[in-house]
Amino acid sequence: MTISERQKRWKQDNTLTPEKITLARLVLDDVRAGKGVLDALRAHPQVGGGILSKAALVAAYNEMVASGEQTPDKALLERIRMKPVRTLSGVTTVTVLTKPYPCPGKCIFCPTDVRMPKSYLPDEPGAMRALEHNFDPFTQVQSRITALESLGHPTDKIELLILGGTWSAYRRDYQEWFVKRCFDAMNAAGDSESASLPEAQSLNETGSHRNVGLVIETRPDEITPKELIWLRYLGVTKVQMGAQSLDDRVLEMNKRGHTVAQTLQAVALLRAGGFKIVLHWMPNLLGATPRSDREDFSRLWSGFCPDEIKIYPNQLLANAELYEVWQRGEFQPYKTEELIDLIADIKPGIPRYCRVNRVIRDIPSTNVVEGNRRTSLRMDISAELKRRGTQCNCIRCREVRGTSVDSAALRLDDLTYQATFAEEHFLSFITPDDRIAGFLRLCLPQPGSVETGMADLKDAALIREVHVYGQSLAVGSETGSATQHSGLGTKLLIEAEIIARAHDYKALAVISAIGTRKYYLERGFERGEMYLVRKLDPPN
Ligand code: SF4
Repeated sequence: MTISERQKRWKQDNTLTPEKITLARLVLDDVRAGKGVLDALRAHPQVGGGILSKAALVAAYNEMVASGEQTPDKALLERIRMKPVRTLSGVTTVTVLTKPYPCPGKCIFCPTDVRMPKSYLPDEPGAMRALEHNFDPFTQVQSRITALESLGHPTDKIELLILGGTWSAYRRDYQEWFVKRCFDAMNAAGDSESASLPEAQSLNETGSHRNVGLVIETRPDEITPKELIWLRYLGVTKVQMGAQSLDDRVLEMNKRGHTVAQTLQAVALLRAGGFKIVLHWMPNLLGATPRSDREDFSRLWSGFCPDEIKIYPNQLLANAELYEVWQRGEFQPYKTEELIDLIADIKPGIPRYCRVNRVIRDIPSTNVVEGNRRTSLRMDISAELKRRGTQCNCIRCREVRGTSVDSAALRLDDLTYQATFAEEHFLSFITPDDRIAGFLRLCLPQPGSVETGMADLKDAALIREVHVYGQSLAVGSETGSATQHSGLGTKLLIEAEIIARAHDYKALAVISAIGTRKYYLERGFERGEMYLVRKLDPPN
């Protein structure tokens, strides 16, 4: 199916018609009577074939509520909602793409498509939506929020994920405008454009869709003290970087254009600035073997110590330079079984402070010339781990998700580890069956720590992340079983303060997203230039 055919199909599936509303009525009656949602959808197929999409079902429900035909029924809505997992980590992620633009990188594995920012393909799910909106930041965010709302998801807390080549390579006026327009959309500003980014940010502090995290992706050699200040000005809280390999020989063979030392320096700088750090790691690069990849992966945990990783196995694509290398017989993609074996080997060794976000990129398999085409690799790896009787202990594999948590049974754990120029404390609340209900990342900069030049951070310990799990709730609402509002965040902050004081830090600084400033201000932090800061009295 071509991209425009897919877009057309998506629109058809999700646009309401009188026939669909009639079908939805029948489906909802069945669900109310106790039938499973899928069974009910199958029992009432559409005239031309196929079943109603869940998005159309939720949209029909919303329309019936709006017209007064259906009284709001929270339990019913919960049952028919699609993919609740999207919000289970406590926030809803909205992904947007920047416009097509060249990247300073020349990586041989990276695809080029003139319609897309470097490294993206037009038929990747998020990219397809961006293309449909002509890469306009406002309509990308606005339409995503509308779509999520129509599916019944809370959208009051949004993590904004900005993708597209190398963010830092775009002109700064474009970056500032792009972020401002994203904020305008989160502020539900209609057609009016804010006069400035600070104005849009200030509105968002109390807005209806608060930004609780802002993520960009860039290259390690773009990270400098000045860049950190700029990123903070934009409101960025998390940075994704391609490390790809921790072997200079492999980096060179793949024309990455930076060294391992530069990656380490960038990670140290980001850490000193309190940013959350996501590293992309790529097995099966030119020059690597499954054996060298196993060794390479283990290097991530000395010095680099990323908070999150994305494992993106190299995929052979026709529009990347690597294709010619493969044609010459000088490159061979791993087979699916080799990849599963490799990742199942390395996953159990991942430290408990790290979250594995992905184990494969969302590239439609039709683009892959040779090698693994399975996009369900995560499930295959889980099955393999189970077969071996081992398990992954990363954050994602231990999150409580939407399950009930008895806060009285939670245990506070302080996992301390050494990163380059910093002692890290990963404070987490753990359930009796070893699941994570919430965590805080406290960074204690050590002598020799890189100088960021930001006054807020002088003699300060840094809170880089506070995350409490539970179904994403409307701000201010409470439910008995959800963990998000049960005060775990406050308890973690108190613990962080105790540790910072015990280590003689003069202040505690938190890298706050625009929409979480209020949370920290209510807990004794004050506005600094770029961070929220709490002065610490010396111990008696
Ligand atoms: S830096 Fe990233 S986007 Fe740029 S060429 Fe390399 S992989 Fe592609």
